[in-house]
Amino acid sequence: MAALAAAGGMRDALIVNTCAVTAEAEAQGRQAIRRAARAHPGRPIIVTGCAASLDPAAWAALPGVARVIPNAEKLSPASWGAPAGAIPPPVSSGRARAFLGVQQGCDHACTFCVIRIARGPARAIALEEAVAAARAAIAHGQREVVLTGVDLASWREGGRDLSHLVRALLALPGLLRVRLSSLDPAAVPPDLIRLWAEEEGLAPSLHLAAQHGDALMLKRMRRRHSPAQAIALAEGVRAARPDLALGLDLIAGFPTETAAQHAASVALIEVLRPAFLHVFPYSPRPGTPAARMPALPPALVRERAAALRAAGQPHALAAARARLGKLEQVLFDTPNEGVTAQGLRLRAADGERARGAVERLRVRAVEGAVLLGEGVG
Ligand code: SF4
Repeated sequence: MAALAAAGGMRDALIVNTCAVTAEAEAQGRQAIRRAARAHPGRPIIVTGCAASLDPAAWAALPGVARVIPNAEKLSPASWGAPAGAIPPPVSSGRARAFLGVQQGCDHACTFCVIRIARGPARAIALEEAVAAARAAIAHGQREVVLTGVDLASWREGGRDLSHLVRALLALPGLLRVRLSSLDPAAVPPDLIRLWAEEEGLAPSLHLAAQHGDALMLKRMRRRHSPAQAIALAEGVRAARPDLALGLDLIAGFPTETAAQHAASVALIEVLRPAFLHVFPYSPRPGTPAARMPALPPALVRERAAALRAAGQPHALAAARARLGKLEQVLFDTPNEGVTAQGLRLRAADGERARGAVERLRVRAVEGAVLLGEGVG
């Protein structure tokens, strides 16, 4: 978007890309705009993203906002007054890792979700297009590709599923590894699990949008998996790739959640021992079915979110401690720190590296969930 704004003569525009996933995310978007307006009076603020698309008038009324661009049009040159041929860079440049959006929108109807309303039906970018974008990323010096999408597991092109896309990317010379962002446990293609066993280049990290540990809660959310399926999937991938770092998304305090149902989410954490845990305190999103269900008091939602985070903490620390003494292939995204194959942060104790450098380091100590390592020459 920055590149398109510059091509359209709006180099001084401040762009705020809003998120609607929770009420908190929306509030952060509004804060970012107010802060930008205070810090840079007179500069035009252009707002886009899911939250702005859901209620454009409210966002247009915020201080300093010159325009609201609908989310679906934010990568179109015309939206920025740029010439028709101006193509946005396929991947975010200037980072050691390339975040490659290969899927947009969603065809499901989870009762809490407003993203689907903002983003429209599922669309996948073509395999050839994704491969070309990854090639461009490698040419920029980016060695890791992170595949992202609203419903990434649903990526399809004809008879080809996500495992075909990953396989095609892993064949590219110069690419160190491919990482997958959050996946819906109901839709992970079985061939992908085989790939974790066969291909070192597929990063040993699996992030599951598990959302809850109780079957009835998952039904009320209209998710398409049961807790048992999420557990079987995580264990299946762990069996294929024993060094797997598991991530979980969980929603705390969904409407009607009882103490026993909340305990089932705590139990899910204990069973799956995630290295990464993202807890979303439930907040009603206007226009969703869950917003009409009997809500829990906000204080109880916050308390349950804190309890889930506390349950996850020892597992995150244990996942880091389990790497002590191991050799890790680190991609440096800052001079002092980088990311390991599992997605853990590693800080170099023996000096700086160039951004984008790839090196094996031995883990000598662990500070919280951060590894401290040294080069081995
Ligand atoms: S799978 Fe559910 S939560 Fe995810 S985008 Fe689709 S409707 Fe929303």
